[in-house]
Amino acid sequence: MKIVMLGAPGAGKGTQAKMIAAKYEIPHISTGDIFRSNIKNGTELGRKAKEYMDQGLLVPDELTVDLVIDRLAQDDCKKGYILDGFPRTIPQAEALDGALAKLSDKLDYAVNVDVPDENIVNRMSGRRACLKCGATYHVVFNPSSKGDVCEVCGDKLVLRDDDKPETVQKRLGVYHDQTQPLIDYYAKQGILKTVDGTQSMDDVFAAITGILEA
Ligand code: ADP
Ligand code: AMP
Repeated sequence: MKIVMLGAPGAGKGTQAKMIAAKYEIPHISTGDIFRSNIKNGTELGRKAKEYMDQGLLVPDELTVDLVIDRLAQDDCKKGYILDGFPRTIPQAEALDGALAKLSDKLDYAVNVDVPDENIVNRMSGRRACLKCGATYHVVFNPSSKGDVCEVCGDKLVLRDDDKPETVQKRLGVYHDQTQPLIDYYAKQGILKTVDGTQSMDDVFAAITGILEA
């Protein structure tokens, strides 16, 4: 099963992608997590990506596409994967389709987690992230049982720099301009499935598994 998650920043893509990956035993590939881990480890890619991420801008396609295509060539992706945060532009989607076509392969589903902009700022200001293992919490909707420490790995949870309200507004603008067109792109391919992302996490998950198992 090869799935891409679509939706505004903070819509709940990562939350759902982790649950889907666990249930169907496929890797969860988040380009945001890959960039954040590179930043944490002080790599050259991390240094370049940070310049864009801190401004709420997309990292250029040249730094993003090959990274993902290489990742998809790894053995654990043979029986499928869930992509979270990629593609984010039409050229990225075309590059992904092109790479899959070379292997006579294609995506199965593009799952769009639909959340209106007015709900997004609350979601993002309450998000707490573990930069070590990628786990995500929300101070109200999904708090860590260990307070400000990650339940999974014990690292300190942080408010991401790009989750501050002024950057969130910028990211929403970038989403509408550059990423939202992917909804039409995948609708034309006949693989778009939209779920109401304003429901509880469990209800969103039930809606998605209902689609994947239909
Ligand atoms: P994305 O990956 O789309 O940027 P996340 O999965 O990180 O979004 O979710 C953004 C924030 O909203 C997180 O703090 C998460 O815990 C919270 N969240 C996710 N899904 C829901 C939901 N259905 N209801 C309430 N809060 C949610
Ligand atoms: P995310 O964790 O998905 O919210 O991504 C955080 C940030 O990483 C984004 O705001 C972008 O700056 C960058 N990023 C993640 N994925 C991509 C992508 N596919 N293309 C370009 N930039 C990306």
